[in-house]
Amino acid sequence: MTYFMPGEKNANEMLISFMEGVTKRNPGEPEFHQAVHEFAANIFPFIEDKPIYQEMRIMERLVEPDRAIYFRVPWTDDAGNIRVNRGFRVQFNNSIGPYKGGIRFHPNVNMSVLKFLGFEQIFKNSLTGLPMGGGKGGANFNPKGKSDNEIMRFCQSFITELYRHIGSYTDVPAGDIGVGAREIGFMFGQYKRITNQFSGVLTGKGLQYGGSKLRTEATGYGAAIFLNEMMKESGRFIEGKRISISGAGNVATYAAEKILQLGAKPITLSDSSGFIHDPEGITQEKLEWVKELKQERRGQINEYVKEYPTATFHEGRPWNVPTDIAMPCATQNELSLGDANTLIKNGIIAISEGANMPCELDAVNAFKQANVLLGPAKAANAGGVGISGLEMSQNSTRVSWSNEKVEQHLNQMIERIHAQCVEHGRSENGVDYVKGANIAGFIKVADAMLAYGHV
Ligand code: NDP
Repeated sequence: MTYFMPGEKNANEMLISFMEGVTKRNPGEPEFHQAVHEFAANIFPFIEDKPIYQEMRIMERLVEPDRAIYFRVPWTDDAGNIRVNRGFRVQFNNSIGPYKGGIRFHPNVNMSVLKFLGFEQIFKNSLTGLPMGGGKGGANFNPKGKSDNEIMRFCQSFITELYRHIGSYTDVPAGDIGVGAREIGFMFGQYKRITNQFSGVLTGKGLQYGGSKLRTEATGYGAAIFLNEMMKESGRFIEGKRISISGAGNVATYAAEKILQLGAKPITLSDSSGFIHDPEGITQEKLEWVKELKQERRGQINEYVKEYPTATFHEGRPWNVPTDIAMPCATQNELSLGDANTLIKNGIIAISEGANMPCELDAVNAFKQANVLLGPAKAANAGGVGISGLEMSQNSTRVSWSNEKVEQHLNQMIERIHAQCVEHGRSENGVDYVKGANIAGFIKVADAMLAYGHV
């Protein structure tokens, strides 16, 4: 890495030489480079006149995880074949609390994907105001088409190695793509069995064994509440707006549910098979049907059009459907520059990112230039980890809060996150939420790192 002394280079020169170092030291990790670049582009101008962050090499230290492990996950399928996958955990930064972040089971999981997710998680967790560091884990395991018994054996094998690296004061994983209530149950059961401890080591647990009310709903609800806050801040209203949503999993379905409660109209959902467009609107009854399809029957979204023939099914992603607002809630880099230009041409007003890094960097820049409100993932989808943080509090004090109490916390948390973005992102053109979230998330972590000295 090329070091430079404070004042020697301007923000843009610092960014260029910093990114050269990051790219060189992390070859073949494009998702990680992208997440760091988006963040660093806002942070270098911010620290240009704050030499202490430069002297203490805060940015250079932030991009190196505290540790990253990978391990073998052997398991036996129903036919008796021995199968082997690779498990990972990236413990990125615990300056403000135990590592916290989800576990993803998807065939495209690798170190680059988990480092980008773990890096983003540091600042998202900081924005919640709760004492949580950043981490992420997972496996290149494809849960699709596997029986419940196969999923159980995989989860048990995965946790049989991971258990020694986690703990309620060390690292507290949760769910993510491919990891929901069923998988968390299997992992928590095996953890409890190995350690003989019932502790708050995983969040997203079932309500019968230490889970928090509203944890399942929190990410999607939070992304919709954040969107509503952005609309109000810009003097607009969400009521009656058409909203295109991608994904049909946990985040997408609960984002749609809250959107409905706020008086707007979800018109699309998607999965890896394609997307459905329902111009009449996806009602609560239709959403319940989708939840059952995806969570119980584990079917594909194209079945929707047989049940609701006013809708149409298409391959690809839903961004060419004319809409007022978009909520990408499936996966990273699912919205390209071309998609952004189509949405802008069709008059889009706002984007709220339910998924992590769903918009490519060029798409983010296009939205900014067109003055489209853009709620970045680390702010807009922080409600999930926020309620996970409250699940940790409930577990350590051995209490269970009511729905109303958790909901009130969620609303207040999202309002506070929104306010921090406005404080650090306001300019003469309105609010740059990406910049606001990056700077607000950075300050707390960076100041804690300053307090610790060179560690
Ligand atoms: P789920 O597994 O519940 O749902 C994911 C959805 O996205 C599914 O409909 C899936 O389709 C679709 N999808 C996943 N990968 C792809 C792909 N490569 N191409 C097309 N479609 C895809 O995951 P979540 O809803 O939990 O997570 C969605 C996003 O939200 C992720 O980016 C995650 O990191 C982020 N997030 C989740 C949080 C949570 O609390 N769960 C918290 C914060 C962020 P199919 O059903 O066909 O697999």
